[in-house]
Amino acid sequence: MNSRRSVLEANLATVRGRITAACAAVGRDPREVTLIVVTKTWPASDIRILAELGVRDVGENRHQEAVEKAAELADLDLTWHFVGQLQRNKAGAVARYADVVQSVDRPALAVALDRGALSAGRELTALVQVALSEDDGRGGARADRVMEVCRTITAASALRLAGLMAVAPLGEDPATAFARLTPLRAEVRSEFPDATWLSAGMSGDLEAAIAAGATHVRVGGAVLGSRRDVR
Ligand SMILES: *Cc1c(COP(=O)(O)O)cnc(C)c1O
Repeated sequence: MNSRRSVLEANLATVRGRITAACAAVGRDPREVTLIVVTKTWPASDIRILAELGVRDVGENRHQEAVEKAAELADLDLTWHFVGQLQRNKAGAVARYADVVQSVDRPALAVALDRGALSAGRELTALVQVALSEDDGRGGARADRVMEVCRTITAASALRLAGLMAVAPLGEDPATAFARLTPLRAEVRSEFPDATWLSAGMSGDLEAAIAAGATHVRVGGAVLGSRRDVR
């Protein structure tokens, strides 16, 4: 446990240093960038250590795993981000524990999340996931569908539209891919000025994401180590 703590502490320091350097390189204030540690496949005990080390935002991509960890760690003051592809029939359950759902990519999913949040008496922050490549199986709305999903979210009474999320496609320079978010983000902000977030950047490409204006980076492996169990 103690050695796990020192590994996580050192990795976190490295990642925070990368964020600071990436911000400095493009003249941004590092306080504009929130680190979300993606804890999928790692145990709740790691999240408890991360919380002790000052992490406030955690991300999960599978409902069953996330719901169990959120219940086990209910005593901690954490913001839970759901970042995985989500089926409509699980939306109601996710709405009971997630604070932020980053992977809203179709109007029907927004409607289902709204219904779930309303029945749980909660309000959810929602990001629209943008597909940066045609079909790499990573989900996301096509660029020409993004505004429609944004409008469905803003029309929903228990959802708050915070901005956009994207995953860089495999096999393309992430800087080129993230650059496609800039005009979309401007279009979203011109209609919804409060939708200021851009969640982009993972362990391998957080610098490119910060250069492209990311306000939230989602980092797994660089903090926790290489995936324990690939599913
Ligand atoms: C796993 C995951 C991450 C973190 O990826 P790493 O490469 O481990 O940093 C970020 N975003 C999403 C949507 C993920 O599923």
